[in-house]
Amino acid sequence: MKLFDAVIVGAGPAGSATAIGLARRGYNVALIDKQNFPREKLCGDFVNPINWGVFADLGVADRVRAAPHGEVTRFRITNCSGREAEARFRSREFEPWIGLGLRRAVLDQLLVERAAELGAVTHLSCRIEKLCRIAHGWDLKIKEESWQAKVLIGADGRNSWVAQQLGLNRSAAIQGRSVGFQSRLRCAGMTRRQIQIHLFPGGYAGIVELGDGTITLGMAIEKRRLGRERGADFVFNKLAQNTYLKEIIERSNGAAQLSSVYPVYFRKRRYRPCAAGGRCGAGLRAGHRRRDLLRDAQRFARSRDD
Ligand SMILES: Cc1cc2nc3c(=O)[nH]c(=O)nc-3n(C[C@H](O)[C@H](O)[C@H](O)COP(=O)(O)OP(=O)(O)OC[C@H]3O[C@@H](n4cnc5c(N)ncnc54)[C@H](O)[C@@H]3O)c2cc1C
Repeated sequence: MKLFDAVIVGAGPAGSATAIGLARRGYNVALIDKQNFPREKLCGDFVNPINWGVFADLGVADRVRAAPHGEVTRFRITNCSGREAEARFRSREFEPWIGLGLRRAVLDQLLVERAAELGAVTHLSCRIEKLCRIAHGWDLKIKEESWQAKVLIGADGRNSWVAQQLGLNRSAAIQGRSVGFQSRLRCAGMTRRQIQIHLFPGGYAGIVELGDGTITLGMAIEKRRLGRERGADFVFNKLAQNTYLKEIIERSNGAAQLSSVYPVYFRKRRYRPCAAGGRCGAGLRAGHRRRDLLRDAQRFARSRDD
């Protein structure tokens, strides 16, 4: 019988960060994941600059910076009517605030390594087979071993197995309306250090450069618009309704395989009027109809909320 203060299921960013936080406070932690690492993960591969404080706190900021990446200093959004807006990330104490295009496989591996270095017991390619609530915690069956944990943490992603076992999944989680896709394209110099969001009917695509001549194209498309279609030609035709996306696809050199995941759903977002009032719009390019674009962006955000 193995005894732990906490068993964390899922070694994505949420699970690894929790393991790091607990392990360095001296708790006896096990971190398990059903996949072996490093593993590919469907994602847009954009690291928002807001994360630097968290990375510093977790003790991985230098490692993240040293990993192969593309630098991102600006945000650009376009819609199907050909409108676009662009904003520079605001500076912090006179230093440029930089986001990254960084493969999730690399980021997640780095966080798992940090957790292990601090003493978290990591078990990859491993699942909980059975869990049972006991008086002071949890009784778990793992690889024919018996473990006990005072605390069980379900960090196993959008469609959490732990939440399902405990009856905690909300219906929104089960009935996700969108399908997520990811592709990597060879297409250097297209994004000019921008994270780009391109809207099209029924979805959006995000594009970021990874610093090695490739871009990650991550997207979410409403399931009802796809029917049974998941093929690359069908999906790329949908994207091509946005002329900016069309140009990127046409200029890219050979699409990598398209991977998909379902369901994808979006949490309710709170709309803050200040976004339309000035500060967010301050860096928008002159000559574009900011109000129309922001209205489109709000409509888009609201459609994610339904
Ligand atoms: C299309 C798309 C694009 C996105 N693009 C971005 C982006 O560019 N930037 C960004 O910051 N975020 C992006 N996100 C969101 C981001 O992917 C999630 O916020 C993030 O992955 C959540 O991390 P997590 O640790 O909670 O879960 P996950 O990263 O999903 O990790 C869960 C882990 O749990 C493991 N697991 C699952 N079930 C079990 C089980 N039964 N037993 C053991 N282990 C299990 C999985 O193998 C996985 O490693 C995107 C999401 C989608 C769908």
